[in-house]
Amino acid sequence: MTVKVRFAPSPTGKLHVGNVRTALVNWLFAKGQGGKFVLRIDDTDLARSTPAFEQGIEDDLTWLGLVWDERYNQSKRFDRYEEAAARLKASGRLYPCYETSDELDRRRKVQLSRGLPPIYDRASLDLTEAEKAVYEAEGRKPHWRFKLEGRRVAWEDLSRGHAEVDTASMSDPVLIREDGLFLYTLPSVVDDIDMAITHVIRGEDHVTNTGAQIEIFEALGGPVPGFAHMPLLVGSDGQALSKRLGSLSIADMRDQGYEPIAITSHLGRIGTSDPLEVAASVEALGESFAFAKMGRSPARYDTADLDRLNAQALHVMDYATVQRRLAEIDADLGETVWNAVRGNLQTFADVVEMAKIVRGPVTPVIEDEAFAAAALNVLPETVDETLWSTWTAAVKEATGAKGKALFMPLRLMITGQSHGPDMATLAPLIGRERIAQRLRGETA
Ligand code: GLU
Repeated sequence: MTVKVRFAPSPTGKLHVGNVRTALVNWLFAKGQGGKFVLRIDDTDLARSTPAFEQGIEDDLTWLGLVWDERYNQSKRFDRYEEAAARLKASGRLYPCYETSDELDRRRKVQLSRGLPPIYDRASLDLTEAEKAVYEAEGRKPHWRFKLEGRRVAWEDLSRGHAEVDTASMSDPVLIREDGLFLYTLPSVVDDIDMAITHVIRGEDHVTNTGAQIEIFEALGGPVPGFAHMPLLVGSDGQALSKRLGSLSIADMRDQGYEPIAITSHLGRIGTSDPLEVAASVEALGESFAFAKMGRSPARYDTADLDRLNAQALHVMDYATVQRRLAEIDADLGETVWNAVRGNLQTFADVVEMAKIVRGPVTPVIEDEAFAAAALNVLPETVDETLWSTWTAAVKEATGAKGKALFMPLRLMITGQSHGPDMATLAPLIGRERIAQRLRGETA
């Protein structure tokens, strides 16, 4: 059996860390198993779906390295849903209902006031043809509900272990609205069957849904796929992230300078027993992924961890990977500069400031003119990789300064900053001319 999974986002908003985690875990599982990853745009709601959001989803997934093997739009598959609906109607599993939402509301309130669960009472199931005709003549259009069997539906969940849902405690789900719109539930099952999806991997907010959908899979005679329901994301405060997800879009994170590998390493490893370290690549992440490593406890999404992974990713990033992006900033930022500064980057954009140390202009910070003059006086004529050690030894000899009192004023004068990359690497890159200018107090 070749593993085949799907990510089915609705193009009604931007992708956020919650749905990207779902996409990622699907992708990691598929790649780890040598399987296929399907991107299925859930755009049956034509009024709310937009081409711009659809494009955004593709851009985000591509940027993260989550390439898909097949791609579909549900809006192009309505004939398949009609056909499935016709079969369910013929077998009596899909039945027309004529209640208005006000009527349903009122009934729910009565049930609740009597201490009963607010489940749909199937009143429409008992309507005679004549009664239905009266409603139709009034201009009422039916919505269509799937008749649940009302039993324990069980499955072995890859993430949760043995799982059960009692469909007797649920309302028969509406599959088709009165305006003819297919709600997500049926198209999803039809497509999973047609596309030979072997595993449905999604958040644990879908567990109840799965009970109903397994009944639909069976009613349509399709094989029932495997399921994995992942624990939901929580913030660093332990509170569910669901309400805040809207502000955690991938597009924004890209603008803020996060590296894709930092995001995928974070989202792929939180809530698992793997250490929260940056992976060499998203493929490598796939090789180490396993549902067995995923616990039942929520996955903690913490920007402090993400920041740490982002810096970690940059510190080991090789020049070939960043060459194009560096050239966009400055055509002359070569490998030597990159290797000298990458260890000090928090975000890629920091490279601009770091490069300025090497290429100027830097406004030197001189706290002691005499010390600056003495240092300039012993600055070696020839510049090679020993410049820093030769020079600092000479400054020490000339001024008597040592340790921090020796190194800090030199760093401040040469870089204008109290922190930064290793001076021994930087000094030869900056060059004798610029170092001398800065020691004289010139902006260079
Ligand atoms: N479009 C659905 C959602 O985003 C897909 C759910 C599923 O994976 O079945 O909630």
